Amino acid sequence: MSLPVLCLCGAAFPVTADTVLIRGGRVIDGTGGPARRADVRVQGDRIVSVAPGLRARAGERVIDARGKIVAPGFVDLHNHSDRQVFEMPAAATQTAQGITTLLVGVDGEGPLPVGDFLARLDAAPAAVNVATMVGHGTVRTKVMGDDFNRPARPPEIAAMRELVAQGMADGAFGLSSGLEYDPGYYSTTDELAALAEVAARRGGFYASHIRNEADETLRALAEAMEIGWRARIPVHISHIKLGTVGVWGRTAEALRILHDAARENDVTADWYPYNFWASTTYVLMTGGRDWEDRQGWVKGLVDVGGAENVLITDFPADHSYDGTTLAAVAAARRQDPVDVLMDIVRRGNADILGTGMSERDVAAFLRDPLVMVSSDGGIEIAHPRGAGTYPRVLGRYVRERKEVPLAAAVRKMTGMPARRLGLPDRGLLRPGMKADIVVFDPRTVVDRSTAAEPQARPLGIEHVFVNGVAVVEGGRPTGARPGRALRSLPRDVGHEQPLDRPPVHEVRGEDLVQVRGPHPGVPDVLGVDGHGDAAAAVLEAIGPAHDHPAGQPALLDHPLQGVEDLLGALLPAGALRVARRPRVEAHEDVALGPGHSRILSED
Ligand SMILES: [Zn+2]
Repeated sequence: MSLPVLCLCGAAFPVTADTVLIRGGRVIDGTGGPARRADVRVQGDRIVSVAPGLRARAGERVIDARGKIVAPGFVDLHNHSDRQVFEMPAAATQTAQGITTLLVGVDGEGPLPVGDFLARLDAAPAAVNVATMVGHGTVRTKVMGDDFNRPARPPEIAAMRELVAQGMADGAFGLSSGLEYDPGYYSTTDELAALAEVAARRGGFYASHIRNEADETLRALAEAMEIGWRARIPVHISHIKLGTVGVWGRTAEALRILHDAARENDVTADWYPYNFWASTTYVLMTGGRDWEDRQGWVKGLVDVGGAENVLITDFPADHSYDGTTLAAVAAARRQDPVDVLMDIVRRGNADILGTGMSERDVAAFLRDPLVMVSSDGGIEIAHPRGAGTYPRVLGRYVRERKEVPLAAAVRKMTGMPARRLGLPDRGLLRPGMKADIVVFDPRTVVDRSTAAEPQARPLGIEHVFVNGVAVVEGGRPTGARPGRALRSLPRDVGHEQPLDRPPVHEVRGEDLVQVRGPHPGVPDVLGVDGHGDAAAAVLEAIGPAHDHPAGQPALLDHPLQGVEDLLGALLPAGALRVARRPRVEAHEDVALGPGHSRILSED
């Protein structure tokens, strides 16, 4: 047999055949640690060394990174390219800004079945890695169809739980919700907690476009924390913002809700670097869906800070309005802005950019340690954030305004989101990690996309590698499609955050607490305020609780008054820890309901 002669196996080739040396740059590794001078060698799809003074091997491709930052590729946790990754797989606007992994299935709308979506990506990869969530709204539609305008019934929730479980088993990273949209709008907190709990069992997280991003933002944030606490699932707030004038300036309160909950749960948020949204005139309606309701429009204009904050970008009935603010059109026509607005809607609606946020609030969110960067964009969307987010943060928020140090910003784009996803081999620039790498010039990097030119490429992003393959070279896309479909790793024991925070020892009688077992998978006990024998409740919980399947808390209708001594004895022994329920106003019927909420933006 002469088979060995035919086997020109990999080992027969020099190692340098598929290695790349990125030499002379400063490495920011994604942990938040400072830049340091180091060379980076990539072999195949992996980073194999990060060290100063690496010598080029014969035939090795060398990239000169002098004066540049070498960082992990950016991981975008809120991306709307679900369909576009198939339609435009080169994803040029994404790679051009350094994105190497994106998470789709956000805002409650996701591919289903997840397994089919990932298999399609396996067969037709994009330039970037793609991960997905299970979309709550998609699951809800699958089960309830057009009859979604009401709370789900128990058998429907059971059917939805099955679909979430299947999506997680197929490789989704968690459950997303979009509670300003149909059909998520009509779901109760109970329903969401019941579904989130299924995602938690396989180590998923709950990401939410919360129920309200306007005047009721704080209550909506509290509801998300409540869902996390009940379902024992990490909570991630999507595109955190204070979207109406009525709540501008209340970042400290909003962040306090997150930080309070973060003492007992794993809580994070993502954020995009713009203070305006792109949508249509319809979203300025604050009442119901009666377009002749003048008061609804009046309130809508107040919410965005007035007609000067509404920029008309496309009015098909009269293009002379395009590029002008509603205030300017009204002045030119000597009309009240509300009348002009109602006239636009009667004549077929216009695309607009609305100032939704205060720039001070936007910056304050970025500075918070729980907040990371996302684009809320996509390969081709009408808002400049789709092509500009990451260079905009690096150029404007870091270099020009110094809102956060460069290494901290890079961490918010890399290590933090990769950790949120639970990706073990991405998000950090270290030997052994996948070679998703961005080389950028910290002196020039900046976004150039605008409302008029939303797809304009940024400056300063010079080289981008995905799984060791160049997708951007010298600032230009290569057209390569080395991305992978990413699947979550099964973690059947359910999420258990490490006990790196001290347990709460002071338990007051009126507190609602969870008594948590010390090990992953050990069921919890929810203590619920009521009247009865608390000590018995806790003892009962400690004993039989172990028979409960993981993730299904035993619900006890007993108060916890009088159990401080008992808990005090058990806690130091490590037998239990007690988690204080976040102080929230939101309860199961928090659903703000039609008329209290409105769709603020297109996502
Ligand atoms: Zn959204």
